[in-house]
Amino acid sequence: MHRQIAPKKFLIYLLYTSLCCLLVAVLNIIHTRYILKIELSPETFIIPVIAGLIFGLMMAHIKALSAQLREMAFTDSLTKIYNRLHFAHFLDAEIDKAKRYGTTFSIIFFDLDHFKLINDTYGHQVGDEVLEQVTKLVDSMNRKADIFARYGGEEFIILTPETDISGAMIHAERLRDKIDKYNFKTVGHLTSSFGVTEFKGENDSIEELLDRADIALYQAKELGRNRVEKA
Ligand code: GH3
Ligand code: MG
Ligand code: MG
Repeated sequence: MHRQIAPKKFLIYLLYTSLCCLLVAVLNIIHTRYILKIELSPETFIIPVIAGLIFGLMMAHIKALSAQLREMAFTDSLTKIYNRLHFAHFLDAEIDKAKRYGTTFSIIFFDLDHFKLINDTYGHQVGDEVLEQVTKLVDSMNRKADIFARYGGEEFIILTPETDISGAMIHAERLRDKIDKYNFKTVGHLTSSFGVTEFKGENDSIEELLDRADIALYQAKELGRNRVEKA
């Protein structure tokens, strides 16, 4: 996710090196002709090309590194979806939008059932593979506009814009059913529990939304797991 494709990277390198070559060449020509007041020689052009290449490569590399750092700050390293921090930014923006335009949205919070048992039985590596499979499965069923993030260990969260509680319940139920029926590599059967809540207007806040989703998820666990509850 968000990984830079090779041709784009190549074009960025090309652009930076070309710009640097041009800049150094112009400066060198001005220096030779108007400050030193001597004739232009082949070195006038060769030196800027080499210097431009080195500068350009360095700048392009710094740009690639900063893009990589940004990706590391905003995405979960295992599943490659957004992390909790970045999710909070989206949620904040969605609350602003909903308050300004009077729209709504919902939050779907879910947690894998008895996941500790999977780690204990098959090992942490298999547990990681399950988390990746769940992510792909859910990602393939989400809408493009949905914001999907790993909230913590085996907890995930989805922000569904322009979706009321009934729409979000239907989506959560589809996801629950899909996970329940899916044949996971190595572990086979797995279930998950869901907590769903809708934005409640002007006086609602991030903390209250997340608290309600958490309470609903807790209820789903209490009522026997592998189910969807709302709050
Ligand atoms: P419940 O049905 O109540 O949710 O039970 P549970 O076993 O899923 O929940 P619990 O909180 O007891 O255990 C969560 C486990 O998830 C424990 C922890 O080791 C595991 N876990 C957290 N993060 C990761 C991870 O990144 N990889 C793997 N493999 N396991 C993880
Ligand atoms: Mg769990
Ligand atoms: Mg948990």
